[in-house]
Amino acid sequence: MWKEKQMAPRIETFAWRLLWNALATGKRAGKYSKHISENCPTCGSLEDEIHLFFLRHFAKAAWYSHPWYIKTEFTSQHNCSIPQMIQALLTSHHPHINIIYLYTFLWCIWKARNDARFCRKLSTPPQLYAATMVIMHGSNMELAASSRIGVTSLFSSSTMLHDASVQGHQRKGHADQQIAPTPGRTINGISAISCPIIFLDAVWSPHPHGGPVAASLGIFIQFRGDRCCSQLCISAISPPATSAIQAEVFSLMLSSYIAGTLQIQQATFLTECATLASEAVSQNVTLAPGHWSIRPQLAQIAASTTFEPSRL
Ligand SMILES: [Zn+2]
Repeated sequence: MWKEKQMAPRIETFAWRLLWNALATGKRAGKYSKHISENCPTCGSLEDEIHLFFLRHFAKAAWYSHPWYIKTEFTSQHNCSIPQMIQALLTSHHPHINIIYLYTFLWCIWKARNDARFCRKLSTPPQLYAATMVIMHGSNMELAASSRIGVTSLFSSSTMLHDASVQGHQRKGHADQQIAPTPGRTINGISAISCPIIFLDAVWSPHPHGGPVAASLGIFIQFRGDRCCSQLCISAISPPATSAIQAEVFSLMLSSYIAGTLQIQQATFLTECATLASEAVSQNVTLAPGHWSIRPQLAQIAASTTFEPSRL
């Protein structure tokens, strides 16, 4: 597991503590202090790892929400320890489970539990996947920046097209030189882009019975000062969207709004959605061919003062 470079360090530490029975669950912490309740605050059962991560109401709802749809109460009938549950999930051939997603999601359940218990900050089960995605993208971006590997090779890149003109402009050995990428086109890496960078993403799946569904939005912002580099991760739920492209346009709307609120000037917006990029940069929304469903949102984005089409 520790060979997984994309796993954020805090997730690694958490995974280690989880597997070595070192997390302060109610059951464990309650043994050491009479001020700490051994029981789950919601249902009163003994709060051990299985209850906390898989069987309490919040955890069951989180595992049953998009994109997992896993009924953990069934999985736990045959797997009664944490390593067994993890093994069962990893070998379930579920299309969304891999070791990094799994531990990052478990960490988000743990964080939501602690936020609720100690900070009185409540989250909803569907927010956990959005939070997981943001953490994953955050560590991917850090890795890309530190090793100067392009985002193209780290993110799933089936929609990305190589743009020869951008490659042609890049000069080897002049990595510090700032190059403006061609708007609306695919780039080969982020090392040549000047900060701030705003990466936006949306995960959306059609509702099994049709009709609009909310998407999970993830926004990752990186600023660079003289000596430091700051990062901001935002996870959000979109209004009900009827298509993947509409979900993507919601992520662009939110990021341009955030850029405006935080007064981030001259940001480069990065999206994985080539269709959105090419449509949003076309100056005249009504003349551009393509998706009618996203034109109201595109018009709204075009009207915002912080979003410059030339920087998408
Ligand atoms: Zn409970």
